[in-house]
Amino acid sequence: MSTGPDHPARAVVDLDAIRDNVRTLRTTAPTAQVMAVVKADAYGHGLAPAARAALAGGATWLGTAHAAEALAVRAVVGPEARILTWLYAPGAPFADLIRNDVDIAVAAAWALDEVADGARAAGRTVRVHLKVDTGLGRNGIMPEDLPAVLDRAAALQAEGSLAIVGLMSHFALADEPDHPSVKMQTHAFEDAMRTAEAAGMPIEVRHIANSAATLTNPSAHYDLVRAGIAVYGLSPVPHLGAPGDYGLRPAMTLEARLATVKRVPSGHGVSYGHFYTTTQDTVLGVVPLGYGDGIPRHASGGSLGPGGPVLVGGGVDDVAAPDTGLGTARVLRIAGRVCMDQVLLDLGPYAPEQAGDVVTLFGASDGLARAGAPNAEDWAQAAGTISYEIVTRLGARVPRVYA
Ligand code: PLP
Repeated sequence: MSTGPDHPARAVVDLDAIRDNVRTLRTTAPTAQVMAVVKADAYGHGLAPAARAALAGGATWLGTAHAAEALAVRAVVGPEARILTWLYAPGAPFADLIRNDVDIAVAAAWALDEVADGARAAGRTVRVHLKVDTGLGRNGIMPEDLPAVLDRAAALQAEGSLAIVGLMSHFALADEPDHPSVKMQTHAFEDAMRTAEAAGMPIEVRHIANSAATLTNPSAHYDLVRAGIAVYGLSPVPHLGAPGDYGLRPAMTLEARLATVKRVPSGHGVSYGHFYTTTQDTVLGVVPLGYGDGIPRHASGGSLGPGGPVLVGGGVDDVAAPDTGLGTARVLRIAGRVCMDQVLLDLGPYAPEQAGDVVTLFGASDGLARAGAPNAEDWAQAAGTISYEIVTRLGARVPRVYA
């Protein structure tokens, strides 16, 4: 299997962009602290470098879904940053998390007791954030169950094994800031705060905003915003604004070197199923990236759909070299089916490209954008998905290179 540096493609991650995006979010939410959400290998960008870059930008918290991710983050960032983890099943390594000073979100009554057991085993007090389901319909304590959970928490707090420090929730439709559910969830969240206070448990850190709410809904900022996709410079609300409209810039460029360039006649069927047929004598280019690398099969082209867009004629390094530029660059769409390891381009009859030339699937830098490079959102549209999935699903065999 081709892995790592042998792969003829690479994801170039601009860590300054991550740092600067966090700086921007701090300005956008000046009354709140910023948590950079680094779950799922920092949305495909690489957990350790992304976490460090986010801290350099002023994030004071890092957020993960899984316990293993939280432990990995602690190992790379040292003792300073607060880390919160929020998704686990019974038997999770709570004692390890607590020894490593990780805050734990509790979304069900059973978890309170297991987390407290972990604290006793670790010989420390665990900081807990109660996660309330204010209307997302996902993981979280139902508001009617909150008083009972608070009662149990009060007993465990008195015993010294845990301290309730946070109250958190998550929006269902943060990307539609005027949707009535946003107000309803905000009210339910504030009700939950009052319930906690009435139970003698004032909350130190209140947090409900993801990237969309951070960018579009200042009244949801409270004490902490939990931003994921915006940290990586992608817009959570592409129907409302592009990253630049929010002062963000994408961090990831995906580029590949053409594996093969070859002449084929008119009427030549291309890729599995022949959903694309050449209409003239032309040149085909083989791009060595496929669904085995996370390229969505739904981005197939020809009669299957618009096809994922690809800038032909250069990549990051060409833009960086001012004398070369991207003079002959053009954007083409994938021809036919996305395969496991490759996609095809119809480069046209007069293609100057040769095997080894660089193409860009989506680009981050201003220079690439000026050259017309597609972005992750363009890929999301071609594949009928969201930009989150485009970057997060990028496979482990594509090497990440940090710039
Ligand atoms: N908070 C929680 C609990 C999440 O699950 C996520 C991601 O899904 C986020 C925050 C960050 O969301 P976003 O990437 O939309 O900012």
